[in-house]
Amino acid sequence: MAFTATRQDIRTLVEGLNFAEKVERSLGLIEEAYQKYGERLVVANSLGKDSCVVWDLAKRVSPNIRGFIVTTRFKPAETVQFMRETVARYPELRVYENREPIPEKLYEFEPDRCCEVLKVEPTRRAIEEMDVACWVTGLRCTEGRTRTDFLETEERDRDLVKLNPILIWYEREIWQYLALHRVPVNPLYALGYRSLGCAPCSHIVADPNERAGRWIGTSKCGGECGIHTRPLKADYQI
Ligand code: SF4
Repeated sequence: MAFTATRQDIRTLVEGLNFAEKVERSLGLIEEAYQKYGERLVVANSLGKDSCVVWDLAKRVSPNIRGFIVTTRFKPAETVQFMRETVARYPELRVYENREPIPEKLYEFEPDRCCEVLKVEPTRRAIEEMDVACWVTGLRCTEGRTRTDFLETEERDRDLVKLNPILIWYEREIWQYLALHRVPVNPLYALGYRSLGCAPCSHIVADPNERAGRWIGTSKCGGECGIHTRPLKADYQI
């Protein structure tokens, strides 16, 4: 790919590009990847604010780009309703969920296992069933301590490219884009949430760290569900 920014470049780009330049760069990244991978390029839409931006950018590149949503039994009612509205508007979004039984309150005493079963497994299934060669995420390197070490294009799994087209955006620029393009968002943001996930693991906090409200009180506080850190291809080993 023509966009081959190093980690040092990423730091410079975060601070050096203005909002309009970042939008153009993100569109260029998606466009270039779409030309290369065609329908095997698929957006992972978490329904969060960052995914809403990525999804809107992808639709500007081509209305034919497909996506998938991973949902869980613990999503807030507002998120479930927002998901229904989004899928009704974009039927090219497929919904994946793991309904297998798990121990009660697994999220309290073993959140990594809970996320592995409820989030990572359906993500693996989506990638397999949709024959994904390049998955597109809303990951940003300014989101918190666990997200500083990514690149715009990565290949952590064999034969699976990961594209992070808004990696260099600030949180402020996400809201700028959503407002300017009138993109609908989950109404929970109006209550003060800055990072949304399952109900038991998402909290409103005043901490400067954007993801500080995730998994509070557990070993995973401010951390990751695993889809960005765990292997996703069928030949993985847990
Ligand atoms: S975010 Fe919480 S409830 Fe949701 S899968 Fe992870 S640990 Fe379980």
